[in-house]
Amino acid sequence: MAALNKNEIIELLNSNSDELFLTADTVRHENVGDEVHLRGLIEFSNICKRNCFYCGLRRDNKKIERYRLDEDEIIKTAEYGANLGYKTVVLQSGEDDFFNVKKLSKIIEEIKKFDVAVTLSIGEKTKEEYKELKKAGADRFLLRIETTDEALYKKFHPDMDFKNRVKCLYNLKELGYETGTGSLAGLPYQTIESLAEDILFYKKLNADMVGIGPFIPHPDTPLWGELNENNFNLALKMMAITRIIMPKINIPATTAMEVVNKEGRIIALKSGANVIMPNITNSSCKKKYEIYPGKENLNNKEDDYKNLLEEKIKEIGRTVAKDKGFRKK
Ligand code: SAM
Ligand code: SF4
Repeated sequence: MAALNKNEIIELLNSNSDELFLTADTVRHENVGDEVHLRGLIEFSNICKRNCFYCGLRRDNKKIERYRLDEDEIIKTAEYGANLGYKTVVLQSGEDDFFNVKKLSKIIEEIKKFDVAVTLSIGEKTKEEYKELKKAGADRFLLRIETTDEALYKKFHPDMDFKNRVKCLYNLKELGYETGTGSLAGLPYQTIESLAEDILFYKKLNADMVGIGPFIPHPDTPLWGELNENNFNLALKMMAITRIIMPKINIPATTAMEVVNKEGRIIALKSGANVIMPNITNSSCKKKYEIYPGKENLNNKEDDYKNLLEEKIKEIGRTVAKDKGFRKK
């Protein structure tokens, strides 16, 4: 494992050489191989009690039309994903207390019958709640730290606590979840130093998955403004460095990358990524899950998108994995 220090990471983040991406691609090939893992994403509720400054689902956004899928719809969508051949289902939502541990456990237990891994991305819970969800069959959990700059974290999450977020991540690790974290790249006031600290944080946590996305401003949030085109490149560099430092983990080519750059996910796959999470939520809800603008144009028909994706994956000399894709030892 390449042990880059903070200054070396900063230097790489400031550089603009393609060598970084080529190195990350080689490290990816040598350590996790050429398979791409597809995880079917279900956005089951856009209701959120939090107020993150960057996110279109924040509770103070009164313009968004809110929805919740019912339990049956979630399970049916998961079955549809399993039938498409996805070996993991990712359940993502705002922090919506309607879906308490009892309801979620029932859903997870049903979905596990389709012989898929289950990943949760539902925000902060108590250790006891995470434990119950694990017992119900959840395998993985995604919880981005977003930024390790504590002052910036406080500024953009006025009613949340950075230390609790870190605690949640360590609780998830302790409970045996494959734990994913990650950051937004290009937030206002975010420094290159803090991005380097983010990468060192992933390593310290020994994260099993790291997802990094460019920050995309949303018009109905306090951080609305022009999209900084550099955010894509910054996210890509973060991802490539993470691959070099943590060669065997799973790294998604994130949706936000494709929103900013039409070929974004393929470029990411060639720069260190080995996972894609195609959206399998029904299209009317998919439109309402507007974290950031631009997402509505992506993968409208799930079957078509899957075929297109598989073609593109083959074109770049890669294959679609057939297993559940846990972290390589
Ligand atoms: N509520 C859960 C949570 O926050 O962990 C899961 C859903 S949340 C919408 C998933 C991720 O969306 C967040 O971790 C955040 O990094 C990302 N996100 C939110 N607003 C964004 C924006 N404007 N641009 C890019 N990514 C954004
Ligand atoms: Fe809610 Fe997650 Fe959006 Fe924050 S990032 S407002 S917790 S959905």
